[in-house]
Amino acid sequence: MTDLNSWRARPAAQQPDWPDPAALEAAVAELRTFPPLVFAGECDALKARIADVAAGKAFLLQGGDCAETFDGVGADPLRNKLRTILQMSVVLTYAASMPVVKVGRIAGQYAKPRSKPTEVRNGVELPVYRGDAVNGFEFTPEARVPDPRRLVRTYHASAATLNLARAFCVGGEADLRQVHAWNTDFVRNSPVGERYERMARDIDRAIAFMHACGADPAEFRTVDFYASHEALLLDYEAALTRIDSRTGLPYDTSGHFLWIGERTRQLDGAHVEFARHIRNPIGVKLGPTATAEDALALIEALDPDREPGRLTFITRMGADKIRDVLPELVEKVTASGATVAWVCDPMHGNTFETPTGYKTRRFDDVLDEVAGFFEVHRELGTVPGGLHVELTGDDVTECVGGGHALEEADLTQRYETVCDPRLNRAQSLELAFLVAEMLHR
Ligand code: PEP
Ligand code: MN
Repeated sequence: MTDLNSWRARPAAQQPDWPDPAALEAAVAELRTFPPLVFAGECDALKARIADVAAGKAFLLQGGDCAETFDGVGADPLRNKLRTILQMSVVLTYAASMPVVKVGRIAGQYAKPRSKPTEVRNGVELPVYRGDAVNGFEFTPEARVPDPRRLVRTYHASAATLNLARAFCVGGEADLRQVHAWNTDFVRNSPVGERYERMARDIDRAIAFMHACGADPAEFRTVDFYASHEALLLDYEAALTRIDSRTGLPYDTSGHFLWIGERTRQLDGAHVEFARHIRNPIGVKLGPTATAEDALALIEALDPDREPGRLTFITRMGADKIRDVLPELVEKVTASGATVAWVCDPMHGNTFETPTGYKTRRFDDVLDEVAGFFEVHRELGTVPGGLHVELTGDDVTECVGGGHALEEADLTQRYETVCDPRLNRAQSLELAFLVAEMLHR
């Protein structure tokens, strides 16, 4: 058990300044009594599927909000989000002729790393919002005080979300024909739908053909769906880390897949140390300043046994940098003999602020980073394993561009994110169709 606490001796970036240590201790003690949110066996199953991703035999789609909120725990937003992810994955499955491993940024994505500790509005300076797991979004001194009771709410919000997601994936909503019918509707109603009509029709024919052959496997009616979030708040993650009764090994049961963010991936830091000791599949974000030496050291620390599916590098370089900085990382990691899954996050390197103060991203930059990601891997003969995107199933106006040609002036209409701008439903589906064209080439 001492190993499981070794992170406590390391510097932990991005942890809240909890004002009342006794209240934190009480919250953690309560969390320790709760049942696991996911099972170790499910984490192992996902690890095996990520091993397929790394080997080029499956494609990973990881998506969801930048930051989930307690208010957002409701049937409608969750259904819309899951539908969008399933719709994207049908298109990608067809185009890649490979299974798509579906992972939500969901049921636990309640804590955010921030670039600055405070923010100023109209001359008033307050601590930043760090996600619903820590403090309130409202711009008042009271709301911004970190409250450890929120960790307990995070658990319950995650449990409720996961419960509905699990039901959704086996209860009929995930039926392939149903999901494809939603895609057909999307294509019909999109101003640029013509472009996607052929692929939608081809999928239609493929489904009809299989049906005519009498094929109706269970896989057409249910899907495997996994939960992931950034393992940021180590007190929370440690409280949900449990010893698997089958194997005697520790798993962080707060989610199936946990990732370490760009701001907390220091080799001697607490986050890497924590992740070293849990057996879940782990991701690490790599931004444009990451060196090949960083990547190799992370492999050594997090995957010393070179376990298939254990480690995923989620690169987020920016559309203007990916073609320059990714090749060396991929080359040196590949030359070292290590196998990792390479996943493209085309969101976090492409954020900018409009003159009117909205954080946004251009759809074309997102698409261009994905294109660069495929180009680099094609050139090197390595495997472009998947996509990591911030999205919602609702018709928000947070990213500019896409088929509906959202402009900066439109951002005021439905800007609802509490952190980074997400692709809305139409933009997400378009991205899937456009990536499908890249995969199909
Ligand atoms: C995120 O995924 O929301 C995030 C903060 O990403 P990164 O660590 O890559 O900046
Ligand atoms: Mn984000």
